[in-house]
Amino acid sequence: MNDFGDNFTKDIQTIDAAHHWHPFTDTKSLNKKGARVITKGEGIYLWDSEGNKILDGMAGLWCTNLGYNRKELIEAAYQQLQELPYYNTFFQTTTTPSAQLAQEIASITPGDLNHIFFANSGSEAVDTIIRMVRHYWVLEGQPEKNTVIGRINAYHGSTIGGTSVGGMSGMHDHGGPYLPNIAHVRQPFWYKEGEDLPPEEFGLLAARDLEEKILEIGTDKVAAFIGEPIQGAGGVIVPPESYWPEVQRICQKYDVLLAADEVICGFGRTGNWFGCETFGFQPDIMSMAKGLSSGYLPISAVAVGGRIADSFIEKGGEFYHGFTYSGHPVAAAVAIKNIQILKEEKIIETVRNEIGPYFQTQLHTTLRDHPLVGHIEGKGLVAGIALVKDKKSKTFFENGGDVGTICRDFCFDNNLIMRAVGDRMVASPPLIITKAEIDELCARAKKCFDLTLEKLG
Ligand SMILES: *Cc1c(COP(=O)(O)O)cnc(C)c1O
Repeated sequence: MNDFGDNFTKDIQTIDAAHHWHPFTDTKSLNKKGARVITKGEGIYLWDSEGNKILDGMAGLWCTNLGYNRKELIEAAYQQLQELPYYNTFFQTTTTPSAQLAQEIASITPGDLNHIFFANSGSEAVDTIIRMVRHYWVLEGQPEKNTVIGRINAYHGSTIGGTSVGGMSGMHDHGGPYLPNIAHVRQPFWYKEGEDLPPEEFGLLAARDLEEKILEIGTDKVAAFIGEPIQGAGGVIVPPESYWPEVQRICQKYDVLLAADEVICGFGRTGNWFGCETFGFQPDIMSMAKGLSSGYLPISAVAVGGRIADSFIEKGGEFYHGFTYSGHPVAAAVAIKNIQILKEEKIIETVRNEIGPYFQTQLHTTLRDHPLVGHIEGKGLVAGIALVKDKKSKTFFENGGDVGTICRDFCFDNNLIMRAVGDRMVASPPLIITKAEIDELCARAKKCFDLTLEKLG
C-alpha cells in the first residue's frame, strides 16, 4: 500500500506532528493523540488508515455534496488536465471551462446575478465582495459609503477581510487589528436569544438591529450588509422566516447593498440552488464555494448583479483585483460537471421534496426526546442540535463547548463525523445520502448522545 511498512499510521502521524501545521487546531493536544489519517472515500463514507469505515455526516467541511469518488468529476478533471492544465484569465484571455462555468452559474443564480468573478476559496470570494462593494460606491461618487456590516457569530472565512466581517470573537482576538469601517449587528438566533418572543417577532427584532446600526453610522456611510442565509460555522442557526425579507426591506430603504454569503447554502444544501431562494430575498452580490465543485478542487465565485456590474463596466476601467488561479480551467471543468450532475439527477429537487424533509423528520424522531437535546433546527440537509443541561427550563451548560466536545469525540470514536460548535452538534451530510444512510446517521448520533449523557453522570 505504501513505503511506510506496518507502522503506516504511526509514521504518518509522526511526520504530521513534526511538520504539518493544521488549520483551527490546538497543535499540542493534537500531537498528543495523533491525527486520524484519512485514506479513502466512497459515497458518504470515509476510511482511515486503520481500516475504519466512517460515516461522513459533515460532507467533508460542508462541501462534498456529491459524495466521494464520483467518477464523472474525476474524469472531467483528468480530461481538462490533459487538454490545458492551466492558463490565466488576466491577459485578455479566457479558457473554455471558465467561460462555460460563468454562463452556467449565471443561469442558476436568481435575479440578475449575471457576472461571475472566480477565486479559489470562500474567504477570497468574501474579500472580493468587500473590495467590490466599497469600490462601487467610489464609482458612484460616494467614497465615504464604505462601511460593511456583518453579524455577531457569522463566519465569512479566515483571511483578513473574511475575519473582519465575520463575527467570531475568538478569531478577532488572533492576528488583529482587523479592517477599519466594519460593524456587526446581532444574529437571528431565536433559540438562544429570542427571549420569550414568537420566532417571527424575534426575526423582525433581529433585523431591525441592522436598521439601528445603519442609522447610527449614517446612511451615507454604509456600503453593504453581508450575511449567510443560514449561519453554518456559527452552529447552523436558521433565521425565522420574517428575518431576511425585513433585512432586504431595510437595505433597500437606506440604499445599502445586500450580499449573501452562499458558501455553505449554495448548490442545494437547503433544497434550492441558493439559500436566498429558500428564505425569499434577492441579493445584489453573492459568494459561493464549497458545493460549487463538491470540494473536489478548490474554486469559488462571486456572482455580481446588474447594478454593481454595470457601474464597474461603464465607469470603472480596470479593477485591480484577481488571483493567479481565478477561473482555473481544471477546477472549472469539475464545477461544470458537478452542476450538470445536480441537474440531471434532480438532486436539489430531491433534497427539497424528499430527502431533506426525511432527514429533518428522522433527526426529530430519533433525538427530540433525548434528555440532552434542547432544540433541533435545520433546512434541507443541514441541521443544528442544541445540547442543554436542562431541556424544560432551557438551561445551557456553564462551560459552553465542553459537552459538545465530549459528544463530538464520541461520534469520532464511533465512526460518525459530526461537528461541535460550542454545545451545538451540527450535521451537513452529502446531498446524495439515502434514507437508509440517514437512519444509520441518526442511530449512531443517538448512541453517541447516550454515551455523552452517561459520561456526564
Ligand atoms: C467556509 C466558509 C467560508 C470560507 O471558505 P474557505 O474556502 O474556507 O475560505 C466563507 N463563508 C462561509 C459562509 C463559509 O461557510
